[in-house]
Amino acid sequence: MKCPRDGSELTAEDYKGVEVDRCVSCDGRWLDHHELDQVEATVAGDEDQRRATIAYAKRTSELRCPVCDKPMTAFNYRAYNLELDTCEDAHGFWLDSGEDQRMLEVMKERVRGLNRAASAEQRWGDLKRGGGSVWNKIGSIFRGGRR
Ligand SMILES: [Zn+2]
Ligand SMILES: [Zn+2]
Repeated sequence: MKCPRDGSELTAEDYKGVEVDRCVSCDGRWLDHHELDQVEATVAGDEDQRRATIAYAKRTSELRCPVCDKPMTAFNYRAYNLELDTCEDAHGFWLDSGEDQRMLEVMKERVRGLNRAASAEQRWGDLKRGGGSVWNKIGSIFRGGRR
């Protein structure tokens, strides 16, 4: 397979247990369609956290798919300022040099955000389970304060 940017031969390499094809001259990476899911799985906890649609602001890319040679579609990954190129025939994704690192950061930020939300829900649940209604608890906090 050839690099869509400079035509160099791509070499397979292991990336966190996922096989990706890397260009040695521009350091870009090609991921098969399912491989993006696998890379995401290395940071995202479960299916729920990955269910959201990943593509925003689609436009035609200047790059061609290394598998079928059709022009690819550039898009923003999960509304973050990270541009990826993908083949509409689901052959895979192209990440320019540095974008793979940025993508992992984006995923980690996202998972951290979800974990924060989950732990807030859990605290709320604990509070509710902790006997009586939340309003009784809040009331007792205020009553305690007046004593
Ligand atoms: Zn290249
Ligand atoms: Zn293709």
